[in-house]
Amino acid sequence: MRLLAGGATDRGRVREGNEDGYLLEPRLRLFAVADGMGGHRGGEVASATALETLRSHLRAGGGDLLDAVRRANRAVLERAATDTALTGMGTTLTAALGTDEGVTLAHVGDSRAYLLRAGVLRRLTTDHSLVGELVREGRITEAEATMHPYRSVVTRALGVDDALEVDIVPVPLEPGDRVLLCSDGLTSMLPDTTIAEVLAAEADPTRAANRLVDLANEAGGEDNITVVVIDAGDDPIGLPAGVAHHDAEQLAPPVTTTPPATQGPGPDAGHPGAPAGVGPSRRARRLPRPVGLALRGVWVAIPVVLVVGIAFAATAYYARRTYFVGFDAAERVTIYQGRPGGLLWWGQTVRERTGTRRDDLTEAAALAVERTPSFARLGDAVAFVGRLDRRRDATRGAGPAGDATTPSTDPAGTPPSVPSVPSVTGPSVTSGRPAP
Ligand code: MG
Repeated sequence: MRLLAGGATDRGRVREGNEDGYLLEPRLRLFAVADGMGGHRGGEVASATALETLRSHLRAGGGDLLDAVRRANRAVLERAATDTALTGMGTTLTAALGTDEGVTLAHVGDSRAYLLRAGVLRRLTTDHSLVGELVREGRITEAEATMHPYRSVVTRALGVDDALEVDIVPVPLEPGDRVLLCSDGLTSMLPDTTIAEVLAAEADPTRAANRLVDLANEAGGEDNITVVVIDAGDDPIGLPAGVAHHDAEQLAPPVTTTPPATQGPGPDAGHPGAPAGVGPSRRARRLPRPVGLALRGVWVAIPVVLVVGIAFAATAYYARRTYFVGFDAAERVTIYQGRPGGLLWWGQTVRERTGTRRDDLTEAAALAVERTPSFARLGDAVAFVGRLDRRRDATRGAGPAGDATTPSTDPAGTPPSVPSVPSVTGPSVTSGRPAP
């Protein structure tokens, strides 16, 4: 599909530098925004390193978009390792790569992609941020999220860890569709309605991008603002719109049981004298003896397979449905999925790695994390992390440096106690591996 794009970026009215960046590569049909973080020049280097690696990798014709994003992640990590002034830097990345049907998005962090079709604006990405999790859990509204003290805390970014989870979103496009990529400096300043109006009114993509940046500045310009507008050309290919999310950590169904054998004649096939409702055992008895024995074996085996399968699935569900918070090997506050220490062969997997380190926390908060509290819902774990008492603000500078455990900062108005799952602390999990 033919794609035409324009972009704009601006420091905004508050920040001293611009840590955002964007990429327009029409020949590669590659477009991206990146919002760097990490203080001083770290953020700037992180976003530039990620975008440049993305470009050079795809220009060299190597691999796909996901592969390129993973390389960009490693490039940011490696760059940070060479220079202590860059330690802790990271960046969001939201990229669109043209396909025959439209674009494929790769997305990490709290920058966003939108689709404008027939005047209607639809968001294509989910924010990997603390407030994003709280909104998805229904604990706060979108409007509350824009005012939340921890609105700048991202839960996923390039440059944090070698194992990076990337959302891959195929977006089929129709001629006339418009895709917007933007950093949170746009969406935190302008409501979606304003963004939709500008995108619908301004035909030229570069002018539309500039107009959006200007309006975000007029609204306060509290963060760096970056906008890329991509127009789908009039190639004849157009597929129904649809968005699919790829979640690498989604637990695959652990059980596959063979359905009951349906081969051979049906109960009433070829047996005019047989009474109605002839059961399988009756049918088996009429077969030659060895075949009949084998079939009887199948009918005995199926309930056994089902029972074992259900037990397996139940254990997998129990082992995986819980989240807990702890420190990873690098002393970062991390949200895990699973049971502390794992259960049977279901281990714990990293769900979200925060930028908060043990040193950022007060002693009491560090102790609270060491107790690896468990939560039935991801949002509760995220809220717990949000309430942790920090020595200093570990965000990109928008959050307060104060006490995060006061009830007033709790978005749902619930007491700061931890809704842990009682069974997790039982001996069956920590001291042994019970038989299924
Ligand atoms: Mg930003």
